[in-house]
Amino acid sequence: MLIPYHREILSEALKGKIGTNALKIIAKANAKQDGLRGQIGHDEYHFDNNAFNESYAYIAENHVQVHNALKKGFMKKAWSAFGRLSHTAQDFYAHSNYIPLWLAKFDKKNTPTPPDVIHDDESIFQNPKLSSGKLYYPLELFSYIPPLKKHVMPHLPKDSHAWMNIDSPAQGKIFEYTFTAAVKATQDEWNKILEKLSSEEKKLFLSF
Ligand SMILES: [Zn+2]
Repeated sequence: MLIPYHREILSEALKGKIGTNALKIIAKANAKQDGLRGQIGHDEYHFDNNAFNESYAYIAENHVQVHNALKKGFMKKAWSAFGRLSHTAQDFYAHSNYIPLWLAKFDKKNTPTPPDVIHDDESIFQNPKLSSGKLYYPLELFSYIPPLKKHVMPHLPKDSHAWMNIDSPAQGKIFEYTFTAAVKATQDEWNKILEKLSSEEKKLFLSF
């Protein structure tokens, strides 16, 4: 997903729930995952290349880091860990075919609107067709360059990130479902964190 949308998803999911400075640090750590170092060899940051187990493990690992940091009073580290795990949770909907599979459950006339998207439909998680886009380097890189895109796309397989991604509104209305599902998933991860905190840790983490 493109960085401005990660940022919008975070503000929508967390507005009124956390101090402004904390949100800034979360957003920065979230965006850093899409830097060059986070792009190469880190499928688990982005649910790329069908790295589902690795991505779920990465989210869990960062949950532990949030808690460990707060125990020591390191709020900045805790916010950064949440930023990282929120990035991964959001990319699930942009890089996998979860949303297309979910939409395929409905006939055209009864398609729910984006706000009604179910982001945690167990039948989709269990669907053997659930997959995420593969990165075919170096061809994939050229698909990011607008004048080259149309020449490169026919050479990329349909299971590539280039064909499968729902990274921005350029993909059409489907992006609204991706966006809303990502907001809901971010709120879930947020609630999972808060559940485990003592009232003292919560006060540090929310930092109003
Ligand atoms: Zn990403």
